[in-house]
Amino acid sequence: MSASRIAARVQRIKPSPSSAAADRAAELRRQGKHIVNLVVGEPDFDTPAHIRKAAFDAMERGETRYTATAGTPALRAAIAAKLQRENGLPYDPKDIIVTCGAKHAIFNALAITVEAGDEVLIPAPYWVSYPDMALACDGVPVVVPCTEEDGFKLTPALLEAAITSRTRWLIINSPTNPTGATYTGRELRALADVLLRHPNVLVMMDDIYEHIRFDSDATPHLLAIEPALASRTLVVNGVSKTYAMTGWRIGYVAGPADLIAALDTLQSQSTSNACTISQAAALAALTGDQTFVQESVQTYRARRDRALESLNAIPGISCKTPGGAFYLYVNCSGLIGRTTPQGERLEGDTDVVLYLLEQAGVALVAGSAYGVSPFFRMSIATSIDVIDEGCRKIADAVAALD
Ligand code: PMP
Repeated sequence: MSASRIAARVQRIKPSPSSAAADRAAELRRQGKHIVNLVVGEPDFDTPAHIRKAAFDAMERGETRYTATAGTPALRAAIAAKLQRENGLPYDPKDIIVTCGAKHAIFNALAITVEAGDEVLIPAPYWVSYPDMALACDGVPVVVPCTEEDGFKLTPALLEAAITSRTRWLIINSPTNPTGATYTGRELRALADVLLRHPNVLVMMDDIYEHIRFDSDATPHLLAIEPALASRTLVVNGVSKTYAMTGWRIGYVAGPADLIAALDTLQSQSTSNACTISQAAALAALTGDQTFVQESVQTYRARRDRALESLNAIPGISCKTPGGAFYLYVNCSGLIGRTTPQGERLEGDTDVVLYLLEQAGVALVAGSAYGVSPFFRMSIATSIDVIDEGCRKIADAVAALD
């Protein structure tokens, strides 16, 4: 028997670093320190009223019992309609499963497919959960670093070089957390051409930020560009970010029948259906008035522009304009090697973030958490006032460096 009663698959993983930074900020706040929180990974808006009301009405109607594991027929039909309407993807509702958030969807997708030693290609900077999820499923996360010059995007050459006979998955997240990188149709076409040469590679499209994008032209979906990939692609999405519904825990996956059936089997023996009341709310989100989506994106855009202007005026740090999501991935290479008023040398972005937290009271996440340094992630899912205060304090703390 092993010395620890915790299984190796859990010993291999660590809690999400975004939460660790948030925890440290919360601890300082508990000690009475004023902390400007620029860590948050969720919309700061309330869920729109018509969505909340749909949940209330569902409860009143008695929709409080189990549904089919894959979700209510109405919600699956609404998701199929959304995928057709917005993405041009022809899915049958039976090829869709509703999950307890996109995170749950991605985890289960890896769990049903990854054998020990299978490789999961993860372009970096990446969402912090991907590598640990791969590890938890006995896989090998293969991080593919992407450069700021390439817009933090995977190039066909990088993809081709990373694929081996053990590659099981490629995960693409566009717009990307943490960089806001947004793939164009032409870039997706070029990646599709590489993928067509490697028929055993499965593709996970994490579309969770699809609506939070700032350029006017909607990018065609990878599968609209190359329908031949549909037989080995899972389209992962959810209502968390688009409709400010992070706490409701509704995500979904569309894909080929065998993968959806396996997801259904695993989910039926683990979590069962996603929350029934939340499913009713998600149905209202997808089928109801979409004004909130446009309005919130306008708000994010104004915040992005304001934060970019302030940050790019600070000597030693710089930030490229993100195409979507609600984060800025800020280059802090000009601060590395500088000395704090306490006489400590900033060796990397973890030091920078710690300095900005302790000295300026501004909570951020170090780029090391996302696989590409030296950067830090700033969330703009907060008010302009908070963003202004944060940028001002960062500027002061940077000015205090030697
Ligand atoms: N993918 C990415 C890239 C994310 O940033 C998040 C949330 N932080 C998720 C998936 C998960 O979203 P949820 O589980 O709330 O649907």
